[in-house]
Amino acid sequence: MEAERCYGTSSPRARRDGFRIGLQAAFRVMGVWLRLLVFGGVSLRGCGGACVPLGGSRLLICRRQFSGAESETLKQRRSQIMSRGLPKQKPIEGVKQVIVVASGKGGVGKSTTAVNLALALAANESSKAVGLLDVDVYGPSIPKMMNLKGNPELSQSNLMRPLLNYGIACMSMGFLVEETAPLVWRGLMVMSAIEKLLRQVDWGQLDYLVVDMPPGTGDVQLSVSQNIPISGAVIVSTPQDIALMDAHRGAEMFRKVHVPVLGLVQNMSVFQCPKCKHKTHIFGADGARRLARTLDLDILGDIPLHLNIREASDTGQPIVFSQPESDEAKAYLRIATEVVRRLPPPPESFPKCLGN
Ligand code: ADP
Repeated sequence: MEAERCYGTSSPRARRDGFRIGLQAAFRVMGVWLRLLVFGGVSLRGCGGACVPLGGSRLLICRRQFSGAESETLKQRRSQIMSRGLPKQKPIEGVKQVIVVASGKGGVGKSTTAVNLALALAANESSKAVGLLDVDVYGPSIPKMMNLKGNPELSQSNLMRPLLNYGIACMSMGFLVEETAPLVWRGLMVMSAIEKLLRQVDWGQLDYLVVDMPPGTGDVQLSVSQNIPISGAVIVSTPQDIALMDAHRGAEMFRKVHVPVLGLVQNMSVFQCPKCKHKTHIFGADGARRLARTLDLDILGDIPLHLNIREASDTGQPIVFSQPESDEAKAYLRIATEVVRRLPPPPESFPKCLGN
């Protein structure tokens, strides 16, 4: 009845004052967290109602007024809530270190780099076991580049056994679908395919697993980055602006999800005419170097645009395997050395991952 009298029968000024007092009382009983939720971090100053006249009426001023301690607590609370929403990272059973090879754009030589990097890691350290996982589910190229065909066998525990060539254990969506079958998949199907490729492969024991990512910065990249611990990312780009812009986005994405970026590979940086030996920078000369400087990253190496690299890939005889003494193969071998130099120390034992 008190309220009825106040709002129903008093003067406009009394009604405004009543409203203000009611609002302040409500703020007093709201916890700080509720205020944050409802008003997005804005609170009424001191609940004493700092009121100023404006256009004949009085307006309650809302000011951002968190103390350092409050905003620190808020930050912690936010990151707790965020981390609750993220999948828990679990290592891939038997795999010590995962290196992802990514690019912003398609067609810049990411898969070629992934294949030759895997072979170069194995060639540089013959005692190390290396695998290659193709999660480029829409355009898997690893079967062709590694000259592999066929369906993976199942192990006793119903896991897919990778196919093996040139000493590298390989798994790809290309082994599970027809070569020319169009993959018209919705997001959920893609995610389920990724889950299978990450969790249902019997890798045995691997020192390095090189992962050929799809181009871009979409769901697959995020899902892979959030589900498994990644030792480092290698970003491949040609030196042209259009590819570099996307490579920049790729590097930033990995940083956001706390994946260390090991560096950039500048692919197709120079073409040397086989006849006159004249060098042409078809896609520009130093674009990736400039980007590396901007991002405070290293260039892991330069790969020239070379007919042998293309032919070797297309015939399923990657250059590091088929022409290991060539300058092009040596460029990949150097990149592998740089990659290993930048990796964090590997775990002492091969990870076990019960309950996948
Ligand atoms: P992405 O994985 O980025 O889509 P690919 O690795 O499939 O790119 O390469 C695209 C094409 O370019 C392939 O035919 C490959 O053989 C060729 N290619 C890649 N790098 C080079 C290079 N350095 N010199 C010549 N051809 C290359």
